[in-house]
Order: sequence, then C-alpha cells, then structure tokens
Amino acid sequence: MSSSNTPSLARDRSSSHTKDQLVANVEINPNAINPLVSSWQLEYKTSITNIEHLCQTLGLEIRQLPISCQANKQFPLRVPQSYVKRMQYGNPNDPLLLQVLPTSHEEKHIDGYIKDPVGDLQSIKSPGLLQKYNGRALVLATSRCAIHCRYCFRRHFPYSTQNPRNEGWNKAIQELQLDQSISEVILSGGDPLVLDDSELTKLIRKLESIAHIKRLRIHTRLPVVIPNRINDELLRWMNSTRLQVIMVLHINHANEINIEMHKLFHKLKDINCTLLNQSVLLKNINDQSSALIDLSETLFSAGVLPYYLHLLDKVDGAAHFDVSEDSARSLMREISNHLPGYLVPKLVREIASEQSKSLISY
Ligand SMILES: *Cc1c(COP(=O)(O)O)cnc(C)c1O
Ligand code: SF4
Repeated sequence: MSSSNTPSLARDRSSSHTKDQLVANVEINPNAINPLVSSWQLEYKTSITNIEHLCQTLGLEIRQLPISCQANKQFPLRVPQSYVKRMQYGNPNDPLLLQVLPTSHEEKHIDGYIKDPVGDLQSIKSPGLLQKYNGRALVLATSRCAIHCRYCFRRHFPYSTQNPRNEGWNKAIQELQLDQSISEVILSGGDPLVLDDSELTKLIRKLESIAHIKRLRIHTRLPVVIPNRINDELLRWMNSTRLQVIMVLHINHANEINIEMHKLFHKLKDINCTLLNQSVLLKNINDQSSALIDLSETLFSAGVLPYYLHLLDKVDGAAHFDVSEDSARSLMREISNHLPGYLVPKLVREIASEQSKSLISY
C-alpha cells in the first residue's frame, strides 16, 4: 500500500503550479463581478472550457493527447480550476485529467453501448422525477454540472424536456405528496448543488412539508470539484431542516481529495450530515488495488465512508473506460484483504428495470 500513510497533505498539489499561473489565463473583468455572486459561483463561472487553455495550464502539448473536437462538441469540456490544480503538471495520463478530457476513443460506437444504459427514461413519473426503487424517488434538480465527466451515464439525457423547476417544482412535489411509500428523496441531476442556496431552500421547504418524507439525499460532485461550495448558506439550510441529510459524494481517485476538503467535510459532519462516497471503476484511472485502497483510506481520513463502487454503465462513447467484471472481482478480493470491512465499497452494477442496484459477488 504505497502512499496511503501520508495521504492528503502530500496530495495537496496546489504548489505544483501557482495560483497566479492558473488565474492568468482567465479573463475576469472585475467590474463585471456581482458582489452578490459567492466565491463558489465565481469558480463555477471561471471553469476551464477550452482544451488549449487546459493543456497550457498543465504544461501539455495538445498534439501529445488524443483530443477529439467531435467528442468535445457532443459533451463539452468543463472543469473547475481548483480541480485542475489537483492534476499533476506535465502528466498526460493523470487520473483526474483522464476523467475530463474529450478524446477520440469516444467516437467509437461499440455494440451494447447505448444512450440510456440504466433505463432512466422508463422510470420517469413526472418531468424530472424518477422512481426505480421502493421508498426512494430521485429528482433531476438541474441539468447542469460543475464538471463534465466523460464516462457520465447521463451524457445523452434529454434534460430539456425534464426540468422539474418549471412551475416552481410543484408537479414533482405533487407526485411525491401522493405517494406515501416514499420516505427518501434523492436530489440528483446534473448536480443539484449547482443550484444556489435560495433555490435549494425553496425546494427543501416544500419537501419538508410532506410528512412521509424523512430523508434527503444529495448526490453531488460539487464539494469535490469546487470545495468552496460548502459555504455558510449551505450549512445553514442543511442544519435547519427536519429531514435527515445524507450526502453521497462522487470521488474516483484519492488525488481528488485535498486537505482543504477535510476541514469542510468535517463542518458537514458537525451538523450531522452523513457523508458517503460512490465511485465508478474506470480503466487506467482507478483500476488498481493500490488506487482503490488509497481512495478508501483517504476518504475515511476526510470523514467519508465508501458506499458503492459502480461497474461502468455502458453509455455510448465510454467503452474505453470499462473494466471487465472478472477484473473487478479480483480487485475486490485484493482490497478486501487489505481493508477493514467498513472501508470496502459494495461492488454494484445498475441493471435497467431491476428493483435495486445489483450486487456483484466476488
Ligand atoms: C441509484 C438510484 C437510487 C439509489 O439507490 P440506493 O441503492 O438506495 O443508493 C435511487 N433511485 C434511482 C433512480 C437510482 O438510479
Ligand atoms: S458530475 Fe455526475 S452527472 Fe455531472 S457529468 Fe459528472 S458523473 Fe455526470
């Protein structure tokens, strides 16, 4: 187990290239900044969306990389600068870079890789409200994300017709009210924490008014890619709701976690928010037992428990990320031999029309 005893401090790579270097390439007109826009929103707005800019920031030559304009057009590059800072300067195979770079591998259409691999469209109850499993309903709170992950199973999702915010959430709320069997609402998307806190507060107040809803789960990558998203406003509404709040983060590699996040995650824990993590098993990114062990150890030191390790959803354009079920099983056996049981995530696959995520035995 290589570096897991010196996890996060060593991993705070902000020194690998200076802040000035990163900011220098972004055109910010200080007069255009609205003082009411919080710092995370500014970070969201100044995310890198230009491949050349990304390469420059990382000291890479565009021609070194298998970049695809076509892939970039279908699902454009988007990555916040604070996440880029955690990438290793000059490394074209950096595990964080590989998660966001549009490449020519995505142009290959492989049999079995489809637009809606998990059957989202069959489980829509009302615009933006999905239910597949007993007791839990999922709200696609927004189509937007702070980062565009190349393996995303919703990269082709028809968000334009699935916006539950039209009509002020009322249609989704009505559906939830009618179904007494639902005790947990999951905010997903897109990334629900892209919405500002006043919008979220509005939604939470409506959810709270439904007596049979006990828990609010938030599936998000925002606290990882823009840690400043965990700000006082967010902590305030989370602390004031009667609902039990669970945050399921999405972190695939230990290098995504830095020391700044430890402090912020602990603020969430202080207000009794349960922190879990789900990862996707991704070829050349985290498909080594050392990487998975390191991830679990680092998550725990940041106050987060591993929840799921997902086999890749077979979405069109992502076949090059797939790790076979056999390799996944052997990785699970290896990590189970090194970790306490509570740090071993459940290996699952999402199969359309099943009643829960399917556990893969190993
Ligand atoms: C994954 C998923 C859930 C959550 O499943 P858990 O096993 O409870 O984590 C709920 N609804 C939908 C539509 C999902 O895809
Ligand atoms: S943050 Fe989540 S929903 Fe958004 S692109 Fe990444 S995997 Fe997809």
